[in-house]
Amino acid sequence: MVSPLILVHGGAGSIPAGSQQAHALGCQEAAEVGGAVLAAGGSAVDAACAAVEILEANPIYNAGVGCALTREGRVSLDAAVMDGHTRHAAGLAALDAFPHPIQIAKAMLEEPEVLLVGHPASEWAVSRGFRRVPEDELTTEAVKAQWRRVVDQGADPNFAGGTVGAVARDGSGHLAAATSTGGTMGKKPGRVGDSPLIGAGTYADHYCAVSATGHGEAFMRAVFGARVADAIRYGEDPAATLERMLLRTRDFFGGFGGAILITPHSGPHQFWTTPGMSHGWWTPEGSGSGI
Ligand code: ASP
Repeated sequence: MVSPLILVHGGAGSIPAGSQQAHALGCQEAAEVGGAVLAAGGSAVDAACAAVEILEANPIYNAGVGCALTREGRVSLDAAVMDGHTRHAAGLAALDAFPHPIQIAKAMLEEPEVLLVGHPASEWAVSRGFRRVPEDELTTEAVKAQWRRVVDQGADPNFAGGTVGAVARDGSGHLAAATSTGGTMGKKPGRVGDSPLIGAGTYADHYCAVSATGHGEAFMRAVFGARVADAIRYGEDPAATLERMLLRTRDFFGGFGGAILITPHSGPHQFWTTPGMSHGWWTPEGSGSGI
């Protein structure tokens, strides 16, 4: 029996001092919920998705309730999950207002397709019994105020209030990664970030599970998740790989951010090139958080 582990993030960015504690504790709570799934013998996929669901329900993060809005003030959600054991993966991009996109991605693991986008993706989710809600139900006053600052006043969109993600290892040593986001504040309608793209913001196989957050365009151009996995597969130290790839994403592709990583034998590993990245972890020995 392998020692189970789950690590979650609540987004990379400059998290205001007044919200740092809530950001970190929200991550710890999500990790504990995922940890309970692992402790009960649940799979890495079930645990990672359970943790992400908790973060999607928490309005301080940019996923589910509290998601960022497009330039037009609309909801457009991205999410993905990958099962490292089967290497099945499922992503949804530019999805309508669903409170838990990660549940939809998990249901899509059964399908042959890897990525569904836009209106047809939303229609498929509805056909599978998922509840689409009015956009207002996912939009908080804090998000509206930030949207006005970014769209009307040209403020930096920042990544704070971030994308959420989880990486988990179950008792059989299987790995999974899950990520969910509203994307960048004030994004172009139709814009898709790295989170739902397998091998960019989300990736899992036999060697590692990784979930990223930050400037999605840079993580896509860096093919971040796939490169991390390849480096580990060819023997590079996991913590060193994570740091090297995030510095490369910053220095070679011009994007700041962070990521969480676990392998069958190591972790939790986390690193960021932004001022902070809220994160939380659970192991059978206990749980914790950081920022
Ligand atoms: N990576 C996400 C995106 O570009 C944003 C974030 O992590 O905050 O959509």
